[in-house]
This record gives sequence, C-alpha cells and structure tokens, in this order.
Amino acid sequence: MNKSIIQLTEKHVAGTYGRYPIALVKGKGSKVWDKSGKQYIDFVSGLAVDNLGHCHPSVVSAIKKQAEKLIHVSNLYHIEPQSQLAEKLTSLSFADKVFFCNSGTEANESAIKLARRYFFDQGQSGRTEIITMHNSFHGRTMGSLSATAQTKFHTGFKPLLPGFKYIPFNDLPSARKAITKKTCAILVEPLQGEGGVNIPDPSYLKGLKKLCQEHGILLIFDEVQTGFGRTGKLFAYELYKTKPDIMTLAKALGGGVAIGALAGTNRVMKSFVPGTHAATFGGNPLACAAALASLKVITGKKFLEKANTTGTYFLQRLKEIAKGNPVVKQVRGKGMFLALELNKPGSNLVIDCMKQGFLINCIQLNVLRFLPPLNISRKEIDSLIPVLSDSLTKLSAK
Ligand SMILES: *Cc1c(COP(=O)(O)O)cnc(C)c1O
Repeated sequence: MNKSIIQLTEKHVAGTYGRYPIALVKGKGSKVWDKSGKQYIDFVSGLAVDNLGHCHPSVVSAIKKQAEKLIHVSNLYHIEPQSQLAEKLTSLSFADKVFFCNSGTEANESAIKLARRYFFDQGQSGRTEIITMHNSFHGRTMGSLSATAQTKFHTGFKPLLPGFKYIPFNDLPSARKAITKKTCAILVEPLQGEGGVNIPDPSYLKGLKKLCQEHGILLIFDEVQTGFGRTGKLFAYELYKTKPDIMTLAKALGGGVAIGALAGTNRVMKSFVPGTHAATFGGNPLACAAALASLKVITGKKFLEKANTTGTYFLQRLKEIAKGNPVVKQVRGKGMFLALELNKPGSNLVIDCMKQGFLINCIQLNVLRFLPPLNISRKEIDSLIPVLSDSLTKLSAK
C-alpha cells in the first residue's frame, strides 16, 4: 500500500524533495503510522511544526468548529479569529501589531519589505541593504532565498536579488564592520536551525541589538523555527533578553495548519499602510482558529516548564550516548531544539532509525537534528536512546 502512494508521488508530484520511502497516514501525540500500519516515534515534528504532537484534541476541535462556521472571507473584511490571534500574539511578545501570511518565507519577504519601507517613509530611501548570516535559512522565494547565505540553495537561481550582505553568525566584529549608510536592518535567526542547530554566545544578540541602536537600523529575528516553545521560551529572543523590532513566525504557529506572521513594534508597523502589502489567505479564520487553540495549550499552566525539563533530560541522555561514540563531534541543544554533530555523514543513520520505528532528521550532511513534540514523554525519549546508540556504534565502526 505504501508502494502505490510512492509510485503516484514519483510519477505526478514535482521532484523537489528527496523523500524517505514511507507514507505517513495517521498521527497521535508523538506517534505516527505509515500506510502499512508500522508505528514511528516522531523526533521531526513535521520540521518543528507539530510542537503539540499530532492531532492535538484542542487544535482538532477548534478546526472542526471553525470549519463549520467560516473558512475564508479575505482581508477586505474584519476577521474575528484573526483579531483575537493578533491580540494574543502581541500580549505575549514585544510586538504591538501583526501582519499575517501563510509561511515562513512569506513572513521574511514581509520583513524585507517592511524594513525598506520604514526607511523610505523617513526619507532615507538609500537605506535598503540587509545584513544576514552565513548558514542562515530564511526560505525559498527569491527575496528570502537571497537573504539566505548558503550557496547550495542558490545554485541555478541567479541572479539573486540585490541588497543583502552576508557575514559570519555569532561574530559581532563582522557585524560592526558590515554596517554602512546603506544598511537598513540585520536579519538573524536567534539560534540557527537548518544551518546546523547553532547556538550563539549569550551576549551575541544583545550585541547586535546595541549595534542596531547605535546606527539607527532595525533588528529582525527570524523565529520561524525557534518560536512557540521550541527552545524553551515561547520565543527564543526571551532566552537572550533581547527584543527585536520585527520578528517573523510560521512553522508551529498554527498547530499544524499553514500560517505565517510578522510581528513588530508600532514604530515600524506604521509603515504597513493600506496597499503596501497583502496576502489573500493571510490570517484566514481557519488557520487563526487553529493557531489560537495551539497557543492556548503552549501558554497553558506548566506546559513549557515541563517541556524544558524533558528537553534537559533528552540533552543529558544524548550526552550519555555521545560519550562512548567517537563518531559524535558535539552535542548541543536548548529546550527541544537539539543536535548531535557527527564527524561522518548521518543519512544512513536516519534510515537505520526509521527502520526501527524512529523518525529523526539530518541536516548539513552530518548534523542529526532532534525536534520532538514539546510534550513527548521521557519514556518515548528513552526508547530512542539504545537504537540511536547502536546506530552510532555501527556508523563509527564503518
Ligand atoms: C523553515 C524556515 C523558514 C521557511 O519557512 P517556510 O514555511 O518553509 O517558507 C524560514 N526561516 C526559518 C528559520 C526556517 O526554519
């Protein structure tokens, strides 16, 4: 049964993804099942989307209720769940206002436009350049792709859009040197996700903020992956007590439903006046209802506290197995955002774990990334450990 799905995909779906040979058809909590009925424990969470696990009852019920009431009407009109979600997001963050869209890349496109428009409105139309970091990931559409400083994503798509300057991540002197009269913003993931689960020095983001203030430029945090409890706080900027002017969100925002957002202070958001930017589906009733339900769970009593404790436990267990395995170069993580960096390619290990009923992810060829649902149990984590340990031993013997 898996086979016919795979055949259809290969024949009729664009070949943009290198997929594993299973089709997942059902999910509950941290578990998913493929078409043949095989069970997997999910340490990928749909790439940091399913932070509450699969088909969380609150989210499912909110979607059902909203779907029966109203699914889409467009932003020509006021939308009840959108207004409520904006109120919630701003009350939970530094931001005063929110623009809604449908994905991470679109949120970053919005941020690029807003940063430029903000300076245009102040008569500084020459300030258009945005500084971004090596190993960043901001999305696949042309603006976000041009902001993404990883050449592997650029191959065959040049010319990129002008106006981006790339510097090393976690390097304040480089940032200081890169700022000119043309700079309008620094765009950075507080912790880099796709680039390898890279955690900055504790003072890095604060340092960037200071530079931005000195030069009167904007600080934009791409929290598409780090947002919604992934790194232990609701937003990663809280970890470093550094508020940006703009933050971009998507992935876990909708509890599994596609939605993106840009959140910013009144000072910058006043540049988004009618006609400047739009998204047909942005902030539609269905996605916003799902996001509201998801946020309610994440911000509920002790939810993040518990996730943090489990994350610390997971990190500890990873450190334990790393000790005996020379193939592990480094263990790192914050909250439920964890990685094992190997000194060998990890793709076979991912397949090995999958065969044994565990979904994990490998990025940058040699970084195993773990993004479990935030409410995964210790027991589920424990079940992965011996499998991972054996696979690592096998890999190091190769
Ligand atoms: C995934 C991701 C994006 C892109 O999000 P899409 O919804 O796939 O467009 C942007 N920034 C970061 C940090 C991401 O992890």
